[in-house]
Amino acid sequence: MLVSRSRHYYPDGTTVFQVENTLYRLHASLLQQRSPIFRHMFSVPPGTNASEGKDDSAPICLHGVKSSDFDHLCFYPFGCFVKHSSSEDFLVALIKLSTLYDIEDGREYAIAQFPTSPTWRPALQLHIARSYRVEDWIEPAFRQLIANPTISMPWCDAELLGLPTYHLVVQTITKVEAQQKLLAFYPAEMKEWIFCTTPENCTSCWELGWWNHVARHLLHPDAALSGQKMTELLGSIKIPGMCHHCQGETVSSLVENGALLMEEAFISEAIQQLDMF
Ligand SMILES: [Zn+2]
Repeated sequence: MLVSRSRHYYPDGTTVFQVENTLYRLHASLLQQRSPIFRHMFSVPPGTNASEGKDDSAPICLHGVKSSDFDHLCFYPFGCFVKHSSSEDFLVALIKLSTLYDIEDGREYAIAQFPTSPTWRPALQLHIARSYRVEDWIEPAFRQLIANPTISMPWCDAELLGLPTYHLVVQTITKVEAQQKLLAFYPAEMKEWIFCTTPENCTSCWELGWWNHVARHLLHPDAALSGQKMTELLGSIKIPGMCHHCQGETVSSLVENGALLMEEAFISEAIQQLDMF
């Protein structure tokens, strides 16, 4: 097997590692300072192979790691990472290996820098969140995916999500859209205020207002309002011609029966299902 030296083969380094077919000569003290895993590795008394890591003939082999990722990680503890600081490859490698080697500040750095990456997008956010335990990112990333039509998702993002997650995204978008169409098509029942003197007028104004103010927002092709936003909108607008009390009773009843928030239930259910993949 042909083995070559990495650009991170430092002549004054103390320990030789092999990752795939590449040798690295690194400073053990720096690695120990950053990572409890390396700290433990160097604290174990040498066994039968006391020369392990001393030179190229007996490197410490790091299995299950790609040399391209390890290259990126090496920029981090040695402080030469500025020019790589927001590239996707660098940040993915950094969070992957920082998670593997328990390098806390490497994880923190990657998590803080990812949103500045030119290629940052919801599919990558969800992938990173689920692969490297960034729990706080799961829900916002999933919600952003649901907010975008899947027709605009590039193939590489679908691949990044994996078939079960991609299917869940498509299924949730379909459920939300079907629910919005259903809501838009059938106006919610008008709740008459018991002292209303113009109930028939209020009913017809509500039905007209539903079409003009609710249905159009729910069916908007580019910027359909969520049920939550719709609830807020209904609380803030005045339906023309309808008495104030009937509108108040009707909107309260709509909020109470939860019809406008069904999509929230679909999304929450889908986020819980993500744990099963
Ligand atoms: Zn009324």
